[in-house]
Amino acid sequence: SKAKLFDEKTDIKTTFKDVAGLEGAKEEIQEIVEFLKNPEKYTNLGGKIPKGALLVGPPGTGKTLLAKAVAGEAQVPFFSLSGSDFVEMFVGVGASRVRDLFKQAKEKSPAIIFIDEIDAVGRARGKSNMSGGNDERENTLNQLLTEMDGFGTNSNVIVLAATNRADVLDKALMRAGRFDRQIFVDLPDIRERKEIFEVHLAPLKKVEGLDTDFLAKQTPGFSGADIANVCNEAALIAARNNKTAVDKQDFLDAVDRIVGGLEKKNKIVT
Ligand code: ATP
Repeated sequence: SKAKLFDEKTDIKTTFKDVAGLEGAKEEIQEIVEFLKNPEKYTNLGGKIPKGALLVGPPGTGKTLLAKAVAGEAQVPFFSLSGSDFVEMFVGVGASRVRDLFKQAKEKSPAIIFIDEIDAVGRARGKSNMSGGNDERENTLNQLLTEMDGFGTNSNVIVLAATNRADVLDKALMRAGRFDRQIFVDLPDIRERKEIFEVHLAPLKKVEGLDTDFLAKQTPGFSGADIANVCNEAALIAARNNKTAVDKQDFLDAVDRIVGGLEKKNKIVT
């Protein structure tokens, strides 16, 4: 079967309420919601709506979640794909796929395009690595730049892209009229971890009075994705032990398990 290049979602239910913490990032990205909902308010005064913003931060911190929440808040379609798909799955056709993607988004505008792992296509050009395949990647990147320059100031398609390696990106991507805004999405602090726990505890059947301050304290360095994992793992551990509600010990066991996983991952990396 033919792999799909991008995913298109409408009627998104994710909103800023689903994104715990990240107050600064939410505040900055709120403006993009306003642009999508009420573009004339800005263009009537001669302003140009930005075409793109870069979400920068470590893995699992909620960049995808935040981008989706923008689409949910503005009630616009969400076109998403991963940069690595471009270069891995569509050898020889990356550029034309980019063209298709923008064409479809424009037809359904206002809309959001979300490109995860933009660094896979957006690494600086001209520093060829020995592995080859660079021409393909560069063609894809060039087409992306062309598309962003090409859509008129009122096309009302906003491109959000995520990376944890902003330093390797081709500077051309950051030029005015492209991804000229950067929004930082950092690992959560203790207060934010508590909020993230509250979001992911909500759907669980749990004992009363679980201390989320305690859980936040037990999880330094955890990302939002890690915390979501802890909550799910805790529920599975409780079920395995035939409990009818998830309790504190299940969370502690789940934290241990995730810490073990993180340590293993780090060993492979270094
Ligand atoms: P990556 O760089 O690995 O693609 P990301 O920054 O895009 O990661 P997400 O995919 O948005 O991270 O996060 C994964 C999951 O972790 C989310 O679907 C959500 O369940 C949870 N999560 C992450 N951050 C938050 C947050 N701030 N609030 C609530 N849940 C979060």
